[in-house]
Amino acid sequence: MSSHPRILIVECMQEISSFNPVLSHYENFHIERGEEMRAQEGLNTALGGALKVLHNADMEPVFAISARAGSAGLQSAEGWQRLSSEILAAVSICVESGIDGVYFSMHGAMGAEGELDPEGYLLTETRRIIGEHLPMVISLDLHGILTNRMLRQVNGLALYHTYPHVDFADTGRRAAEFLVRLVRELLRPVFARVVIPALVRGDELITKSGCYGDLIREAQRIERDGTALAAGIIIGNPFTDVPELCSQVIVATDGDEAAATREAVSLAEEFWALRHRMQGKFISLERAIAQASTIKGPVVFTDAADATSSGAPGDSNGILKGLRQSHYSGRVLAQIVDPAAAAAAHKAGVGAEIAVTLGGALDTTRYSPMPVIARVRLLSDGRASLETMKIGLDAGPTAVLTFDNYTVVVFSRTLSLFDRAMYYANGLDPRDFDLIVVKSPHTEFHMYDAWVENNFNIDIPGATSANLPTLGHTHCARPIFPLDENVTFTPQAVLYSRL
Ligand SMILES: [Zn+2]
Repeated sequence: MSSHPRILIVECMQEISSFNPVLSHYENFHIERGEEMRAQEGLNTALGGALKVLHNADMEPVFAISARAGSAGLQSAEGWQRLSSEILAAVSICVESGIDGVYFSMHGAMGAEGELDPEGYLLTETRRIIGEHLPMVISLDLHGILTNRMLRQVNGLALYHTYPHVDFADTGRRAAEFLVRLVRELLRPVFARVVIPALVRGDELITKSGCYGDLIREAQRIERDGTALAAGIIIGNPFTDVPELCSQVIVATDGDEAAATREAVSLAEEFWALRHRMQGKFISLERAIAQASTIKGPVVFTDAADATSSGAPGDSNGILKGLRQSHYSGRVLAQIVDPAAAAAAHKAGVGAEIAVTLGGALDTTRYSPMPVIARVRLLSDGRASLETMKIGLDAGPTAVLTFDNYTVVVFSRTLSLFDRAMYYANGLDPRDFDLIVVKSPHTEFHMYDAWVENNFNIDIPGATSANLPTLGHTHCARPIFPLDENVTFTPQAVLYSRL
């Protein structure tokens, strides 16, 4: 090893909903190669956090490839074939010049036609390329699906500890610190994994206020006090219907199998006891509209069923239709993905009046197009950056349309909508409206909840409905709560170690 150990950096991140009928493709990914990946330096991303640690530790990053896609439907077989080949080719080339360790940044909730554990495949193949003895550390979103195949390849890991996610860079920092120790010290990581047959959703998952957060803080505590090298509770993305979808506790210690097992089992037992609390609470659209009509202050209608950040297409018009049918009279602000409507607006120009349909363009089984005669208020290229992570968003040609008491931002492409970035970028302030439709189960508190009078979680069909039994899972291991009745749980730790 040189005096400046060389750390291979690879990234592949996507989260999919198996219930989105639209396949995703290679083109969904934003690819950075080699030195282009330095663009993440200083950002609140996993790579941003990791690069700082490597720099301070006098280690040299060797950039392979970063592929990141917004959440979407299952990846096509062709897309996955091309993407995985490019990633592994980039790894191979970098390994030839000599490396001392690998940091692989992942989301964990990918899925492709013919490969329902893409991350497991990438890690297995990467291990084949780098050999058995180099340390490899991964980072994962807590909505990831950490599989047996993945755990058999890694020497270390770090998991998001916050939801809504704000600790991207912090997770990269923890992953890199683990890796630095693996390169410099004689660590003997042993992982205890306890699989919990439960899928969870709802407000109790908000780590600042919910009971899930109380358990995460215990995981953080054992990381900080040295009991564990890493610990976390991964809940999976309930919409990524793959064989190992589940909730699970992971605790890694330095050779102490008993401590890893004890801590993982104890957290899993506590989690299981809370499963009923960690479910979505909904209100019917009719009732929410009736209540909103009697409330003075602004309200949010949460359309978690069409959450683009969880893999839904973003073309649901269900709430808009309901509001129109019931003649809701407040000022409504909403977002929708509809390429044809956006194109028609760009063709007509600002100020023009156009007859278009909104929504129902992608998920045609769940939604039908809604005809409107709208005024084109503003046109944009659909570019912005996320409020927290500051990474780029690209909705393609975008239009602000108004009709009656409605203002709707119309996008050409599906993109994450878990903050206010696309409203601000198109000259709109949610505070100027009485009812705002938010296509995300949760946003950071200050964005809406801090100032709206009520946030209604609407029970409405969609590829990411928190009403999980309505979705129709076919791949994940059964029985699992709440898809099945009378599910029982006997905590059992499975140990992994590469020694
Ligand atoms: Zn997530």
